[in-house]
Amino acid sequence: MALPPLVEPAAELSVDEIRRYSRHLIIPDVGMDGQKRLKNAKVLAVGAGGLGSPTLMYLAAAGVGTLGIIDFDTVDESNLQRQIIHGVSDVGTPKAESAARSIAEINPLVNVVIHNTALDRDNVKEIFSQYDLIVDGTDNFATRYMVNDAAVLLGKPYVWGSIYRFDGQASVFWEEHGPCYRCLYPEPPPPGMVPSCAEGGVLGVLCASIGSIQVNEAIKLITGIGEPLVGRLMVYDALEMEYRRIKVRKDPNCALCGENPTVTDLLEDYEDFCGAVSEEAQEAVTGSTITARELKEWQDSGKDVFLVDVREPAEWEINRIPGAVLIPKGEVLSGEALSRFPQDRQIVLHCKSGVRSAEALAALKAAGFKDAVHVQGGIVSWVNTVDPSLPSY
Ligand SMILES: [Zn+2]
Repeated sequence: MALPPLVEPAAELSVDEIRRYSRHLIIPDVGMDGQKRLKNAKVLAVGAGGLGSPTLMYLAAAGVGTLGIIDFDTVDESNLQRQIIHGVSDVGTPKAESAARSIAEINPLVNVVIHNTALDRDNVKEIFSQYDLIVDGTDNFATRYMVNDAAVLLGKPYVWGSIYRFDGQASVFWEEHGPCYRCLYPEPPPPGMVPSCAEGGVLGVLCASIGSIQVNEAIKLITGIGEPLVGRLMVYDALEMEYRRIKVRKDPNCALCGENPTVTDLLEDYEDFCGAVSEEAQEAVTGSTITARELKEWQDSGKDVFLVDVREPAEWEINRIPGAVLIPKGEVLSGEALSRFPQDRQIVLHCKSGVRSAEALAALKAAGFKDAVHVQGGIVSWVNTVDPSLPSY
């Protein structure tokens, strides 16, 4: 299904622009008209991270006239493995500003709008309404659902992408012409079921594979060429080197864009909707949580602590808290490792950030280890507050 161009053409291209975009101008399907539409386009990138990096760079190079960047984060060394819009000298600076500097270097003709803030229910509609198209490179479910809901409520199309380890997905959601994200995924996954890239890792180059699909779709939507990825989901497997295209239908029962919608405005709390941890874990950690500093005090005072790291072996290779033993979460949840836990020692669980250890704590308490506790913020907090000399990830 071809769709009309999303953006009206700008009046003129300057001599500089004609020189710069000549390889576009001589493609018949793009031509002067398409390039003028790109010049007039206002595109917002949600996130200047893994997907946002290649997306912003190619949108800038392609001559999109106005590029908005929303990101509240600062550049960290661990970002540089994939977030190629940032460099070594940008570590510690806000990502939106760092990205804007790179864009100015690629194409100074682009008008960059920096939104150095977190997207939330109070600003999302106001920010989205300034743009023709949204490109979503968010890495968490709460923001993803909020982006979808705001886009549907405003009638805006958006290009969505997601990545994890060797797998990527991309689609175009446009309520007027096809399904929305909720039609595809009506419910967020149960808390703890789908790890984030920070927890599970991602192959850096996957950002380019999926980001390039997103830019490709953005250009097609703006100029009205080709078949946009509306109602279709691209699924990419980097290990098998396979792209599959799956049809996605509009769900008449969709809570947002269905025939009898139950979601008619933004939700009060998207974090709550997606749940950082399960209810069982929430209950288990109440009154059974210590800080990294408290753990250090327990160890220093000679308390008989049985410290269990419930992360995966690959993470254990990167860093570990002295005195810990490795028992991955899965072995605790399956019951397989329960015999390794002593009855007469203070059990302390930790993971990377405190989500997995909360899940493991719930299982352990259910198995009768009532006094077990977990470390809030996990080894990340240990590195930040107790031992900054440990490598972090
Ligand atoms: Zn829907």
